Amino acid sequence: MRTTLRKITKTPLDFEVKLNKIIFKGTLEYHSGKLILLKAELSGSLDRACDICAEDFDMSIDEEVEFFISDGIYEDDNNLELDVIESLNGVVDIEEVLASEIELIKSDYHSCDNCKNS
Ligand SMILES: [Zn+2]
Repeated sequence: MRTTLRKITKTPLDFEVKLNKIIFKGTLEYHSGKLILLKAELSGSLDRACDICAEDFDMSIDEEVEFFISDGIYEDDNNLELDVIESLNGVVDIEEVLASEIELIKSDYHSCDNCKNS
């Protein structure tokens, strides 16, 4: 799902996309300046290999994410250090956002239940 950032208003726009076994459901709404607020829930499960025993396991995902999307380069004039993703073409691609969230989760350390309990 691709959305033009300029068209997003204060009225939250619902979205729901799915990638493999993960559902990404939330809203986009205009915040201020060039910023659009994205609030969403990630749920489902992810196939991955355990970092300890290397066995594949189903990792359940249940996370809330909240960050801003900037329409163009974001200048942090007030040093708010917000969590901002920049869009340089004025468009947000929700599938792409989801894919990068999944990469983030994958880059963390995870072990399967067997290893956790031993
Ligand atoms: Zn393991």
